Amino acid sequence: MTPTSFEELALAAPIKRALAEQNYITPSPIQAQSIPILLKGQDLLGIAQTGTGKTAAFSLPILDALHNKPQRLRRKSARVLVLTPTRELATQISQSFDSYGRHLNFKKTLVFGGVGKNPQVRAMQSGVDVLVACPGRLLDHMNEGDIDLSSVEYFVLDEVDRMLDMGFLRDVKKIVAALPKKKQSLFFSATLAPQIKELAHTILVNPASVSIAPEKTTAEKVGQTVCFVDKESKKDLLLEHLAEQQDKGLTIVFSRTKHGANKLCKSINSHGFEAEAIHGNRSQPQRERTLTKFKKGTLPILVATDVAARGVDVKDVTLVINMDLPNEAEAYVHRIGRTGRAGAAGHAVSYCSPEEHEFFMDIEKLIQQKIPVNSSHPHHHEELASLHSRGIKSRESTRDNGGKTRGGGGGRGRQGGGSRGSQGHGQGERRSGAPSGGNRRRRRRV
Ligand code: AMP
Repeated sequence: MTPTSFEELALAAPIKRALAEQNYITPSPIQAQSIPILLKGQDLLGIAQTGTGKTAAFSLPILDALHNKPQRLRRKSARVLVLTPTRELATQISQSFDSYGRHLNFKKTLVFGGVGKNPQVRAMQSGVDVLVACPGRLLDHMNEGDIDLSSVEYFVLDEVDRMLDMGFLRDVKKIVAALPKKKQSLFFSATLAPQIKELAHTILVNPASVSIAPEKTTAEKVGQTVCFVDKESKKDLLLEHLAEQQDKGLTIVFSRTKHGANKLCKSINSHGFEAEAIHGNRSQPQRERTLTKFKKGTLPILVATDVAARGVDVKDVTLVINMDLPNEAEAYVHRIGRTGRAGAAGHAVSYCSPEEHEFFMDIEKLIQQKIPVNSSHPHHHEELASLHSRGIKSRESTRDNGGKTRGGGGGRGRQGGGSRGSQGHGQGERRSGAPSGGNRRRRRRV
């Protein structure tokens, strides 16, 4: 029988108290299905994305185990390791442990790049119960002998599809190799591509599978439209949309590059709109300050790159604008998933120029949906709309060219791969397939 309230679950009383205080009454489907399995000690393969409640699905049974089986901590070691691809996700997971475990006694720390190593080393010295980490920095600490994973009892590998997209596969494998054989493992991914399945097989032992809300349900949930438009007109269109959106909720504007996001943000500001950008070139405290303002509703517009926006879970985002289209169709689903959170109404508008037409076709193929065209704006590109309706690719569209000619803000943004220093930014910015290890890692410029 699937539990319909947290009261029915065999969780320790202090955990139930924390949940009640936060008005968690009904477990979400992934929680209802996973928690009983995890409390029995079984491994889990969870197909679920952010927004389904998966953080509580794994953190509640783990907190329960820590509470029921307290143990003396070993130096530099962790009883629980949660591995997640981005700093934002790591921070959110850590906050979830804090809030669900507010009446429990446990030690926890966060490990990710972009911030000093020494406080992390110190925090690990006498060991922790829960370590939430991003792969690159964790591996650095392991190589330097500051973290020892040999006594991990619970291992959570979160957002595996994102982890692989970001080129973390080799790092993840090295980390997994340092874990003890005997442990309970939990593996979460939004999709189950063959490479992911293979990785799951190497980690999980007799896992139970739970599958919730595949990616395309996000696409089904969020109202979507496309505006066919010349790249030169995108900024004007954006300003018109932002003016219409005023006082109607929070907006995220996506830009494909960091440089584009900065430029766009400045331009939006110069037209009197309050906006701030988050991307990998901003320091962690800057990103956190911006996100806090956005969450509180005091900052109405966030300009973000794909990687920086991952894990941004803000309920009142009512509009997502894709200033330029991502070159990976899956990123589109992640972008539009930033709106329509927790059952709220959300809308996503994509600006597609002739150069991006093929990206747009890829997106419709992936979500298996025709996105309605908004032709009632002054910048409507009828020729492109007509080609699209007949399934003909624009001659200006080329996948290879698309990245080079497009810049956020419709201008010619300087693109990735340039020589301006982008090293030393935090986790979650790694180029897929980039060499791992050492300080020579190349970071993805987004
Ligand atoms: P997650 O998928 O873990 O990122 O969670 C998505 C959001 O849903 C977070 O803001 C959680 O605080 C919230 N949430 C998760 N589970 C529940 C629940 N059972 N009841 C109410 N809110 C929840």
